[in-house]
Amino acid sequence: MCGIVGAIGDKQCSSVLLDALKRLEYRGYDSSGIVTIHDGKIARKRAVGKLANLDAVLVKEQLMGDIGIGHTRWATHGGVSETNAHPHVASERVSIVHNGIIENHRVLRLRLEAAGHKFSSDTDSEVLAHLFVEAFDAGMQPAAATQKVLAQIDGAYAFAVMTIDFPDMLIVARNASPLALGIGDEACYVGSDAIALSHLTRKVVYLKDHDYALVHAHGIEV
Ligand code: GLU
Repeated sequence: MCGIVGAIGDKQCSSVLLDALKRLEYRGYDSSGIVTIHDGKIARKRAVGKLANLDAVLVKEQLMGDIGIGHTRWATHGGVSETNAHPHVASERVSIVHNGIIENHRVLRLRLEAAGHKFSSDTDSEVLAHLFVEAFDAGMQPAAATQKVLAQIDGAYAFAVMTIDFPDMLIVARNASPLALGIGDEACYVGSDAIALSHLTRKVVYLKDHDYALVHAHGIEV
């Protein structure tokens, strides 16, 4: 289980996320990545190895936008590669970062693939992105969609979702894996460890198992 970070409402989003990931570096990881929404599209950068490699990619081509999520991965399902590095994106609309293991990922993936979903990684985590696409396609609002997804998955998880369907929020949830939310003046933040957020705000809320939250720039709903 490695690191999750998120930010919404912060114009320096990409560099804030990279900095927050660096604060989680002590946990160890094999690859990393960040996504933001810019001009109505999901923009993504990933790299295998040290965060310095992701940093170098971002120096060449900065990710713009004031909403984003990031991850440092410790592979459990699927080898160490850029395509297996998080964030995962489904249908160019829904992006996720996940810590932990989705135990029933195989059966979910088979069902989703049979329904036409195209997977682009070997990870257990990617099913989360497709489950959210499925729920949004069915017309569900974020809270109902999250409840629907949580009802289908087994395992230990903390995850964050960013979607162009609802670009004014991040969706987060946890079970048996830590997740903290930071509330700032103009922005809110997500971290799998409060250490990632402590330099951004003093107001930190810890989610409990089975909690989910909608994180907006100006506050959170748990
Ligand atoms: N099971 C996921 C994967 O292999 C997440 C691993 C992690 O917690 O970093 O991609």
